[in-house]
Amino acid sequence: MSTTRVDIAELELSELEEALEARGSRRFHARQILRWVYRRGITEFAAMTDLSKGLRAMLEADFAVSTPRVEERDRSSDGTEKFLLTLADGRHIESVFIPETPSTTLCISTQAGCAMKCAFCLTGRMGLARNLTAGEITGQVRVMASALHLLDTRFNIVLMGMGEPLHNYDATMKALRILADPCGLAISPRRFTLSTVGLVPGLDRLARESWMPNLAVSLHATTQSDRDALVPVGRKYTIEEVIAACRRFPLKRRSRITFEYVLLEGVNDSPDDARRLVRLLAGIRAKVNLIPLNEAAGIPFRRPSDERVDEFARVLADHHLTVSVRKSRGRDIRAACGQLIVEGPQKSPAQKLAALMGRADGPAERPS
Ligand code: SAH
Repeated sequence: MSTTRVDIAELELSELEEALEARGSRRFHARQILRWVYRRGITEFAAMTDLSKGLRAMLEADFAVSTPRVEERDRSSDGTEKFLLTLADGRHIESVFIPETPSTTLCISTQAGCAMKCAFCLTGRMGLARNLTAGEITGQVRVMASALHLLDTRFNIVLMGMGEPLHNYDATMKALRILADPCGLAISPRRFTLSTVGLVPGLDRLARESWMPNLAVSLHATTQSDRDALVPVGRKYTIEEVIAACRRFPLKRRSRITFEYVLLEGVNDSPDDARRLVRLLAGIRAKVNLIPLNEAAGIPFRRPSDERVDEFARVLADHHLTVSVRKSRGRDIRAACGQLIVEGPQKSPAQKLAALMGRADGPAERPS
C-alpha cells in the first residue's frame, strides 16, 4: 500500500466522513464503505457497487483498506483454530477462533509480543516487538470472521491473545469502538472482554470511559511475593493497588469482574491460597476463572492434578464465589492461553533440526 493513501482500516466513522468531505465527497458514503468492509468483508473498492464509478475511482487513488494476511491456519481436534497472520511490515501475530463455549469466541492480540514477562507465559518470552494499530486489531476480527463465515453471526471477542491491552490503550479502545459501531460489526459492548495483568493507571482510565467492555483481571497470586515472582509488573502495581482499582471500578448493573488465576502446581494452588483469594475479593462483584497451567517446554511450572484444581474451586464455591475452570482449548496446536508465540529471527534448536531434516516447520514445530 502506498504510504500516501489513507488506510480506512485505521479510521472510525467520523474520521472517514471527514476524509471524504476533505476530498469533496459526501459524508454519508462513509457508512456505505464501512458496511462493505465490515459486514460483507469486501475491501476492493471496485466491488462496492452502490458507489458511483467516480467515487470508486477516487477511493482507488486516495484510500486503501489494509488487512492482515493469513499465513497459516491450524485446526485443533476440538475445533479451535489458530490463525497466524502477517502484518504490513512482515511481523506475525496469532489470533484464535474458539467455537461454541457456549458462544463462538474470537481471541485477538493487541501487541506483537508482550512486555509483561509473566513467568508462565510463552508470549512473554518473546518480549514486545511493537504495539498493534487499531486497524491491525480489528483486522484480526475481519479476517477470521470472513474466513469462518461468521460475518452475519454473533460472537464474543476476548482480548486475551498476545499482548497487554492496557499497555496499548489508545489503539485497543479505538479498535473496540470501530467493531462496536453500527456501521462496523455492531458488536455489543457486553460481547467484549478485555483481559489485563492489572495496570492500575489503565484500569482507572478505563473506568472513565463511557463505553466499556467486560473486565478480566489476571491476578494469579494471593501474596505480594508470589505475585512478584509470577507477574513482574506486579512489583509496580501491588495486589492491594490492583484490588483497590477493581473496587472503585464502576461496574454496570449485573456485571462482575472476572479474576483470572493460573493454577501452578505447588506454587499458588493450595487451599490456603484459595482462602486468601476469598478474603482479597470480599465485597467485590467478582467471579473467578481458574486456568490450570498450559504446560510448555521452557516454562518451569507444572499443571496441578484435576483433584487439586477441584479442591481449590470448592473452597471458593463454599465461600459463595462464582468459579469456573477454564477448559483448555487448542492445546494440540499451541493455541491455548499463554501458548501464543511467533518465532523471532532466532530459530530454536528444534526448528534448526527440522530445517536440517528438510521437514516443513509448521506451527506444531515452533519453539516453545
Ligand atoms: N495480558 C493480558 C492478556 C493475556 S492472555 C492478561 O495478562 O490478562 C490471557 C490469560 O492467559 C491471562 O490470564 C494469562 O495470565 C493466561 N496465561 C498466560 N500463560 C498461560 C499458560 N501457560 N497457561 C494458562 N494460562 C496462561
